Order: sequence, then C-alpha cells, then structure tokens
Amino acid sequence: MNELQSSGKPVCVVTGAAGFIGSHVVDALLKKGYKVFALDNLLTGNEKNLTEAEKNPDFTFINFDVTRELPVLGPINYIYHLASPASVPDYQKYPEETALVNTVGTRGLLKVAKAHNAKFLFTSTSEVYGDPKEHPQKETYWGNVNPNGVRACYDEAKRFGEMMTMLYVRNQGVDARIARIFNTYGPRMRPTDGRVISNFINQAIQSKPMTVYGDGMQTRSLCFVSDMVSGLIALMESEKTKGEVVNLGNPEEYTMGDLAAKIKMMTGSDSEITHTDLPPDDPTKRRPDITKAKTLLGWEPQVRVETGLTETIAYYKTL
Ligand code: UDP
Repeated sequence: MNELQSSGKPVCVVTGAAGFIGSHVVDALLKKGYKVFALDNLLTGNEKNLTEAEKNPDFTFINFDVTRELPVLGPINYIYHLASPASVPDYQKYPEETALVNTVGTRGLLKVAKAHNAKFLFTSTSEVYGDPKEHPQKETYWGNVNPNGVRACYDEAKRFGEMMTMLYVRNQGVDARIARIFNTYGPRMRPTDGRVISNFINQAIQSKPMTVYGDGMQTRSLCFVSDMVSGLIALMESEKTKGEVVNLGNPEEYTMGDLAAKIKMMTGSDSEITHTDLPPDDPTKRRPDITKAKTLLGWEPQVRVETGLTETIAYYKTL
C-alpha cells in the first residue's frame, strides 16, 4: 500500500492548476483536507499562484502537458480538468494548444478516470453558446457558434470536449460531469490576459485609456472566483450529477460600457473611456440561466459584483 492509500484522504488531480481558476480550486481542495496533484505546463498559468499551496505537504506540483500520457500517480478519486488557455487573446495566441488540450487532453484524462474509477469534471464554457439566439442561456440551448472563426479553436474544442465526456459517460460508464463556466473574475487573473475585468481595472489604476470594444452595449454576467470554485466542487461532489451539464455563473448582467464606468468610479480613476473596434465573433449578450445549478446543487453565487470588484482592485494594486 502506498502513502496515498494509507492516508485515506481523497486524492484529486487538477489540470490547469497554476491558472486563475485552477489555483483557487487547488487551495479549496487542500482546505478540505484532500491531497492534490496539480498539473500545469505553465503555458498561460503561473506557478506563483500556487505559492500558498506549495507549503502544504498534501500538495504536489507536476509540470506537465496533459495532451501527453499521464504518469502513474497511484489512486485518484477526483479529476478536475481545467487546463486550457481561456482568455480571447491567449487562445488566439495558442490556438493549436487550446484545441488539443480540450480534445486530446480531455480524452486522455477520461481514460485515466476510467482506469482509476475516479469522478471527472470537464470545465466547458459559455462560449459553447456562441453569439446566443436564446437569452438567458439554458443548458438545453445548442448554441450559435462559428465553426471556423477566430474563436473556434476554443469554442469548438470545448464542444468536442463535452462530446467526448458524454461519450465516456454513456459508453464507458465514467462518472463525469460538465460545468459551463461563464465569465469569472478575481485575484490571480493575469493583469495582461486581455480579459475585460483585468484590462479595465489595470487601465484605470494606471490612468490609461479604458478600452471599451465596439459601442459597449454588449453584455456579460460576472462571477467572482470564490463562487465559481464552490460551484465546481459542488458539481463534482453532489449526488446525481453523473452525465449532467450545468451552467455556473452569476446572472447579474452588465453592458461593457456600464462596467467601464463602474470600475472608473470604484477606482477613482481619471482615465478616459475610449471605444475601439469590436473583435470578430464577439457575442452580443451573455447571461446564464442557473436554475439547474440551484436545483441540482443548491448553489448560487453569494458575492455581489461591487464586493468582488473591490477585492480584485485591491489585488491588482498589490502587484
Ligand atoms: N472587452 C472590452 N474591452 C476590453 C476587453 C474586453 O470592451 O479591454 C469586451 C469584449 O469585447 C467582450 C467583453 O468585454 O464583449 C468580455 O470580454 P472578455 O475577453 O473578458 O471575455 P469573453 O466573454 O469575450 O470571452
């Protein structure tokens, strides 16, 4: 019997563990007293996000590309597959890596889940809805995605990952589920990752122009990272979630113009709000219907946008 078996603690593999959401999932699992194998190839992740985790004897970091075959780790109870570039500029800079980690990587990890009889969670995205024709988006909506546009490396790879996950549920009996993550923000988002919250806050605190793309009337719904993490863990651990697809996000919806004004006000910034071209295939609106998460998991976001933004602004000021 190896050390992990004898300790009796649940063992988790987290891919994308050095990333924004991944590193918070790692911290939460360690806090629950679990053992964590944290996998990341550091393409867009940063090992600094794991500084606290690294002090914990139940934590092991492995610099690893999950499109390769996983080394033997001993028993595994849970696999959280979060590895993927996730901001629009990141996945457009690494389109092939993005496509592969969500397809080849997902298949490889599902095989590991089957071999270890581990529970598996695939992190999909609201991007599977594309530029949605249904609003708000329910899990039953099939989406409106450009299959070969500049976002397809992400959107279509996530859709493939969902398909592969369900294939392993149906044909291989794997205990897997899918989270569709809507826009999430908070500490540890890279200041230069190009997402709207990181851009606006960093522009505001540096008195640089705040770049609203297009007319700023497009909407997003913003979930604070602690809420996202509790949703992911609830989805993994709740009964009756095998084969389920669940939206996780905060239904509070803002136009990007209003968001820029709010962040300018909250930071007391003298930045000018500017308008530049809208990137191709930028969805015009997005808001999750979270009825299923509420019913199935008893989960809903707790953190108001003002509170989450205050914490995120404070984080960026420390960098
Ligand atoms: N956006 C913006 N200014 C920025 C960055 C993004 O107006 O500096 C807009 C972008 O056009 C999109 C929304 O904010 O409509 C959210 O963008 P983000 O890249 O954060 O995430 P997405 O939901 O597009 O994946």
